[in-house]
Amino acid sequence: MFDQPPSLSDVGKSIQHIDKEVLPKLESRLEDRAAIFLQTEIIEHKLAKIRFILHQAFDTHMEFENARDVLTQLLNRRFMHTVLSREINLQRRPDALGFGLLLLDLDHFKQINDHHGHAVGDVVLKKAANLISNAIRPSDFAFRYGGEEVLIVLVEVEPSMTKEIAEKIRKHIAQHQFSLPEDKRLRLTTSIGCAHAKGKYDYQMVINEADKALYQAKHLGRNRVFMSAT
Ligand code: GH3
Ligand code: MG
Ligand code: MG
Repeated sequence: MFDQPPSLSDVGKSIQHIDKEVLPKLESRLEDRAAIFLQTEIIEHKLAKIRFILHQAFDTHMEFENARDVLTQLLNRRFMHTVLSREINLQRRPDALGFGLLLLDLDHFKQINDHHGHAVGDVVLKKAANLISNAIRPSDFAFRYGGEEVLIVLVEVEPSMTKEIAEKIRKHIAQHQFSLPEDKRLRLTTSIGCAHAKGKYDYQMVINEADKALYQAKHLGRNRVFMSAT
């Protein structure tokens, strides 16, 4: 649940210390009140430490859970650094597949605001974010990168899957009929730039690659996926 932050290993060590050292000492000297008092104090001290570390881990976890953007329910971009640094480290393992990074930008979104008003734009944006979130796995990450831009981290995927998932997201959005007030419907398309990180040690470089690919996708006519060659 906490994905093993370093302090959690202290919890394990404290429990082992109690089990392997403190309790046997206590059991072997049950008639010695001074020894019982001392060992009980040690246990209390260790438990306080465990409680403190677990509270900290829960707090961090809850902060992450509350880290969603209010309108879209996507993750707030202030957590991007934590997530991407971790993924960069994980893909150093020889058996790791690497991760995919998608930069998605809704096409001609300004026109929706201009034609239907900002409030309708908000509803459409929220639904688009919902379609995106449902198209990725629970273990992947989708951040609100900018106004109508989303950055997606596809954990442990090969380059071909990166493009496949991007294509799936693009289709989901293109095929959806967005409901507007007064029973009106609207279509929306999206352009997606993709990059794959394997053997890359700077996530900003991977973002830049995806950004360039997104520019190509827009330039080639929008409603398409473009995969960075590098
Ligand atoms: P392109 O295909 O080149 O991306 O065209 P575009 O109109 O989507 O791009 P542009 O960057 O010109 O405009 C983005 C628009 O997205 C303008 C901005 O008002 C709108 N937008 C950004 N965030 C929100 C939001 O939270 N709500 C609403 N309703 N609109 C937003
Ligand atoms: Mg944009
Ligand atoms: Mg746009």
